Amino acid sequence: MSSANVRVPAKINLCLGVGPVREDGYHPLATVYQAVDLHDEVRATLRDDDEITVAVHTELDALSEIAIVPENSDNLAVRAALLLRERTGTLLGVDLAIRKVIPVAGGMAGGSADAAAALVACNEAWGTGLSRAALEQLASQLGSDVPFLLHGGNAVGGGRGETISPVLARGSYNWVFATAHEGLSTAAVYAEFDRLNAGTEVAHPTVPDALLAALRAGDADALGAALSNDLTEAALSLRPELADTLAVGIEAGALGAILSGSGPTALFLASDEQHSLDIAFALTSASDCADVIQSRGPVTGARLI
Ligand code: ATP
Repeated sequence: MSSANVRVPAKINLCLGVGPVREDGYHPLATVYQAVDLHDEVRATLRDDDEITVAVHTELDALSEIAIVPENSDNLAVRAALLLRERTGTLLGVDLAIRKVIPVAGGMAGGSADAAAALVACNEAWGTGLSRAALEQLASQLGSDVPFLLHGGNAVGGGRGETISPVLARGSYNWVFATAHEGLSTAAVYAEFDRLNAGTEVAHPTVPDALLAALRAGDADALGAALSNDLTEAALSLRPELADTLAVGIEAGALGAILSGSGPTALFLASDEQHSLDIAFALTSASDCADVIQSRGPVTGARLI
C-alpha cells in the first residue's frame, strides 16, 4: 500500500499590516511570515476505491466549538485532496490521518498547514507528480496562508497573504507562545477590525523597513522592537483579557510581544534559550493562558518524512 507522511510547521506573522476591505471581501495584507518549530503531520494512504476520508488525532483540548477540527469534507486537508484530484484528473482515493499539534483557531494557520501537507502527501501517494510550483498555484486557491506553509522559512506576504516573495534574513529566533482557553474566529476578528475602522480611512499596508532591516541583520532586539500587528485592537476588543497575557511577557523582559495573526495566541521573542524559559515560567505562573510553548524559527515548510 502506498503512503506518504508530511510534516508541516505553524506560521507566525512578524508584522501584519491590514488594509481597507476589498470588493471581494478580503483585506489586502502586508506581512512577514516566519515558519516555526511546531508541527502537524499528515499521512496520506492510498485506498483501493475513490473515497477520501480524514481522521484527526490530537492531545489538544477542543475547549470551544470553533476549535473542533472537522472530520469530513470541511477539513482543509480534504479540500486540498479534492482540489489536487480535480487538477490532475486522478480517480484515486485516500485516507488522510492528521496528527494535530498546532493550536486550533489560534492564529497560527493550523488548518492551512494541514492543507499544504495534504497537497504534498497526496501528490506523493497518488504519484500525480505535480511540481512544487504547480502545488503552490493550487495552494493559493485553498487559502491565503497555504502557499507560505509549503514554502516555510521567512517570506513577505502580499495580496491577501497568498503572494509570497523571499526576504533576506539571517539568524534563528527563540519564541514563546501562550495559547488561550478559547479560539478566535479569523472572520470575527476582521469583522471587528471593520467595525472599529468604520468611517476612517484605512491606509494601504506596508512592511516596516525596521523589521526587514532587523531580519537582514539577524538582530533579535531590533526584531522584537519592530514586531507589529494591525489586528491587535480588534482581537483585544473581543478578548480584553489577552492584554494581561501580553503584559506578563513584557514584564518578564520579552524583546517583543504581539498576538499571532488574528489571535488569540500571544507570542513573545526571547534573547536566548534561558530567557525563553524565564518568560515561559512567568506566563505559566502569572497569566491565565491554556498552554505555554517554547519554539524556534525559521524552519522549512511542508516536507515528506
Ligand atoms: P489562521 O491563522 O489561518 O487565520 P487559525 O490558526 O486561527 O487560522 P485554524 O486552526 O486554521 O485557525 O482553524 C480555523 C477553523 O478551520 C477551525 O474553526 C476549524 O474548525 C476549521 N478547520 C478545517 N480544517 C481544519 C484543520 N485541518 N485543522 C484545523 N482547523 C481546521
